[in-house]
Amino acid sequence: PVTIDFVAADVRGILHPQTDPIVHQSRGPFIIEKGDGIWVEDDKGRRYIEAMSSLWCANLGFSNRNLAAAAHRQFERLPTYHTFNHRSNSASITLSEELREISPIPEAKISFTSTGAEANETMIKLVWLYQSALGRAHKRKIICREGAFHGATIFTSAMSGLASVRGAFVPAGAEVVFTDSIDAYRNAKPGQSNEDYFEQAIVNLEHLIQREGSDTIGAMIVEPVCGAGGVLVPTRRYYERLVDVLRRNDILLLSDEVITGFGRTGQWFGCQTFGFVPDMMSVAKGLSSGYLPIGAALISDGIYQVVAKEAQRLGIFGHGFTYAGHPVTAAVACEALRTYKRIDVVKMVQALKGQFEARLQQLVEHPLVGNMRCCGLVGALELVADKDSRTRFDPVGCAGRLVLERAIERGLIVRHLGDVIAICPPLIIRPAELDELFERLSGALDDATDQLLV
Ligand code: PLP
Repeated sequence: PVTIDFVAADVRGILHPQTDPIVHQSRGPFIIEKGDGIWVEDDKGRRYIEAMSSLWCANLGFSNRNLAAAAHRQFERLPTYHTFNHRSNSASITLSEELREISPIPEAKISFTSTGAEANETMIKLVWLYQSALGRAHKRKIICREGAFHGATIFTSAMSGLASVRGAFVPAGAEVVFTDSIDAYRNAKPGQSNEDYFEQAIVNLEHLIQREGSDTIGAMIVEPVCGAGGVLVPTRRYYERLVDVLRRNDILLLSDEVITGFGRTGQWFGCQTFGFVPDMMSVAKGLSSGYLPIGAALISDGIYQVVAKEAQRLGIFGHGFTYAGHPVTAAVACEALRTYKRIDVVKMVQALKGQFEARLQQLVEHPLVGNMRCCGLVGALELVADKDSRTRFDPVGCAGRLVLERAIERGLIVRHLGDVIAICPPLIIRPAELDELFERLSGALDDATDQLLV
């Protein structure tokens, strides 16, 4: 057998997402070889607590044999097939039933995809189809929030409120408009309370709608808790007001539950944690615990009825992906959903979220930490050069990167979003493991302090 020098081959042949290609060439890849529960092991045999569930997705950890067995069984039965032109398969039908059972949208119809971005794109097409079927073809703009992330396809990049994601990739004339971020820590005026900040955000949203004209706006898309934007957690009151404004202006509400789905926030879906019911929602990641690529858009019956008639008028709903409802990914997702239900994942997160919050709160005392946010079992620490003035490190990101490196030395994988350290552990984490995670994180912060605070 040919032996491959994995480091050299990686640097030679792979362009990594969200990675500086030049830095990558000199430092090489961090190669993960194995997984076990909340742990992963690298190519040198070192073990790490994976406190980001890979990329916000491995809710059931890294060694669930039932998911592997479900894939194996389905591979032997029907390894691939499409769901176009009336074709279907029992795996995706069963999954649709499991998903509808927990859907906060009553009588939801489900459109399967392979990724979260595709699920968001599907929702946007449906918004446009729906609005035009109602004779409101000009209601096309999508309201998005600063700091949001919705994916890396062209239109989901355009809807993302992160400069690095939008970059040069937004097509001219993309019908997106931006409203306030939910980052109260960074954006509140001196002396302004969180509540006041969010109230102002709603007032600004109303102004935006007036300026643009509600007859030009089709929908607003929100992540209930912003993930990649720095784990930003608004209030229930904010959503209550937001829903009211959108309803009064006949604007649909889309919930991007790609991170916040399947128990992460302490309810099945983030919208339930914040008390609203969207018109459509997207899911992915935790749907299969990240084991295989699968996503879905869940559509309210009211929207479905309108678009179904419109599709019939047009001859067809000209949308769909080769792997929509793929039998093996569906079988694995189905097993993941059954597992979440069997272990009562919502109750598990409810039981652990107090400990999670308390441990984050303790770290606010640390000299590097200016702010903490959390919701269920997703949280973050924001690192600052000066706590009182909330002064950022210069350059932004240097502290986050250093803490990340120190954490890796201590056998802990977290993510840095600029100088925000995000934590999103597998939902199966045990209390003692959660303590161990925070011991390591606290040690990593200590290790980075001398270099950062001179
Ligand atoms: N929406 C949110 C909130 C996400 O965090 C992500 C990915 O991180 C996406 C959408 C895009 O999902 P995918 O990478 O599966 O396309």
